[in-house]
Amino acid sequence: MTYLSEVQVPELPEKSEKLTSLLNVLHDEFLLSDETVDRIVADFHEEMRQGLAKHDSMGKKTGPLAMIPSYVTSRPNGKETGSYLALDLGGTNLRVCQITLNGDSTFSITQQKFTIPAEAKEATLFDWIAQSVELFLDEHNLATDDASNPIPCGFTFSFPIDQTGIAKGKLIMWNKGFAVPNAVDRDIVSLTQSAFSRRFLNVKIVAIINDTIGSLMASAYSHSNSQMGIIFGTGTNACYWEKTKNITKWTKEEIERFPEEMIINMEWGAFDNKLAVLPFTPYDNKLNRKSHNHGLQVFEKMISGMYLGEVIRNVLLWLVDRRVLFGGRSSEVLNEGYSLDTSYVSIAVADETPQLSEIKNLIEGTLNIPDTTLTDRIVFKYACNLVGARAKRLSGAAMCAVLLWRPELLEKDVTVGIDGSMFQFYPGFADSLMEEAKRILGPERASRVKLILAKDGSGFGAAIVAMTASKKL
Ligand code: ADP
Ligand code: MG
Repeated sequence: MTYLSEVQVPELPEKSEKLTSLLNVLHDEFLLSDETVDRIVADFHEEMRQGLAKHDSMGKKTGPLAMIPSYVTSRPNGKETGSYLALDLGGTNLRVCQITLNGDSTFSITQQKFTIPAEAKEATLFDWIAQSVELFLDEHNLATDDASNPIPCGFTFSFPIDQTGIAKGKLIMWNKGFAVPNAVDRDIVSLTQSAFSRRFLNVKIVAIINDTIGSLMASAYSHSNSQMGIIFGTGTNACYWEKTKNITKWTKEEIERFPEEMIINMEWGAFDNKLAVLPFTPYDNKLNRKSHNHGLQVFEKMISGMYLGEVIRNVLLWLVDRRVLFGGRSSEVLNEGYSLDTSYVSIAVADETPQLSEIKNLIEGTLNIPDTTLTDRIVFKYACNLVGARAKRLSGAAMCAVLLWRPELLEKDVTVGIDGSMFQFYPGFADSLMEEAKRILGPERASRVKLILAKDGSGFGAAIVAMTASKKL
């Protein structure tokens, strides 16, 4: 067996057999053998197959991947022109953008970022979105009042919806910590459009997509061989081009209504909700039990920005409780759930200073734990590296599973458009994906895979889909 070898149990300046043996325990818990990764790839295919065959699997603790048809069937070619409003609602921020497609594979963007407040996540979301759009339109002098000519808007809404058309989709469930009442089972476009009406905004939502589709469309605008879009942000998810005839949950008549290919929104954050193949540790289980959506999105909970720091916090507290870290003392901050933001993890794993002084600032300044030793800081970095390396490997496995699903695509160059802060900022994330691709796909096929940062892709893709949709109106 070969193991995740890039993270070794560290040599410690103050020798402690007890600590070293606990670090070895963690190594064994978080380590992924190649065999486990291969089993995950095989099981991904099984869940994809079942999800394409079966309706309504989202939100079920035992169901396969939801594999939701997106109704997006046309690829951009870079020649598109026009100005569109785009909203990108992720899990942490709302970005409101005015996007101009220049027709030469380039675009210009004016955008404003609004951090989603807790009360919007729990109650006032749609009115808060309308208010943010109003602020944006006022600030950039974009408001119009010609009711017969509303501003066309593409909405990137990154939660699972059961789509029945390009501007129609019912919310299946919330995730990423959202819990707005009276939204599940209701049409998200109508809910948002009503909030716009309450503020007399002259904006018409002409398309709703999710962020993975946005990334894929944005990537396709400049790389015509784009086949897959992925998000590694607050949450994680992916989409890819599927042959419409493979959507076997549809009737023959339904299939025939559409062109040969359609983008499928996989909702891969829910992979292995049946708990069969992922290597869950007690730290994952603790996070899962305490989460809003216990038993759901279990893959996402091992990988994405919202959760990575929390898994690490659980590991650190386990070591504190065994009196081998921080002198056996935690702090009020560290005791608080989700206090270890994943952006801190990126800082920690990048710290190469001899005394780990970035980590010292972080633990002593932000987490409020005084007088750390170098050993404390080495252990902190090790915990971050261990959990981070597992996330990177699992991410690579999932990406390769999708690429292998259509092996004919790997006979030519293929581009994957990726967006999200984890991909953009976590040290070595893209390199790890490529390492895993070399192992799983083989070096020759892996050399044809190009990963691009579809920066701003989530919003930009919505503008492209809005353009396609408003042409058809
Ligand atoms: P959204 O999911 O709202 O589109 P992002 O893609 O920006 O937003 O992802 C936000 C998530 O990324 C948050 O969970 C945050 O903790 C995490 N994050 C922010 N900065 C970093 C960073 N430097 N390294 C790793 N994760 C980060
Ligand atoms: Mg996003």
